[in-house]
Amino acid sequence: MNFELPKLPYQYNELAPFIDALTVEIHYDRHHRAYANNLNNALAKYPEFVNGKTVEEILADVNSIPADVRQLVINNGGGFVNHNLYWSILTPNGGGKPNGALLEAINKTFGSFESFKEQVDNAAKTVFGSGWAFVVVNKEGGLEVVKSANQNSPISDGKKPILGIDVWEHAYYLNYQNKRPDYIAAIWNILNWKEITRLFEEATK
Ligand code: MN
Repeated sequence: MNFELPKLPYQYNELAPFIDALTVEIHYDRHHRAYANNLNNALAKYPEFVNGKTVEEILADVNSIPADVRQLVINNGGGFVNHNLYWSILTPNGGGKPNGALLEAINKTFGSFESFKEQVDNAAKTVFGSGWAFVVVNKEGGLEVVKSANQNSPISDGKKPILGIDVWEHAYYLNYQNKRPDYIAAIWNILNWKEITRLFEEATK
C-alpha cells in the first residue's frame, strides 16, 4: 500500500444539511477508497517507478508513467488527489469569505468576491457529464477557474488546485437528484477558507 486514504476530518453527518451523511459516507468510504485501492493496484508492479514519489509528483509528469497503467493512474491517481483536496476544503464550520492575500488575489483577478463566486458556480454548473470545477494557481502564480473532465487533475497541466468542487452525480444525487445548481449553492456554506488560504499560500510562496 503506497498511498493511504486520508482520514475524513469530520464525521459523516457533520456537513449536513448541505451534504447529507449517507452521501458523505458512500462518497468517502466507497468512491474515494476505490480510487486509492485502484491506484495502489495499478502501481503495485512498478515500485522502482514510484520510488517514494507523491501522487502529485506522478501526475505532474504523466508521460513518465509506465504506458500500460498510464490511463489507470491518471484516472485513479486523479480521483485520489482530487478527493483528498475536496474533503480537506470542506468543513462543518465553513462558509463566509477569505481574507488577506487570498482575498486580494481574488479581487485583483476577478474584480470582486461575488464575481469570483459567479465564475466558480458557472464552471461547476456547466461541466458536461462527470468532472470538476477547480480554482487553481497557474504557473505565473495567478488564480484561474478551470473545468476538468472525469478525474483529470489540473496538476497534469502544471497548475496547483486550491479548491475543487466535485460535480460527479455521486457527489450530490441522493439528496439533490438532478438539481446540481442547488448542490453547488450549498457548497459555499461549508467551504474551509482556512485550508484554501493555506493551499494558496503554499502554491504562491
Ligand atoms: Mn467524487
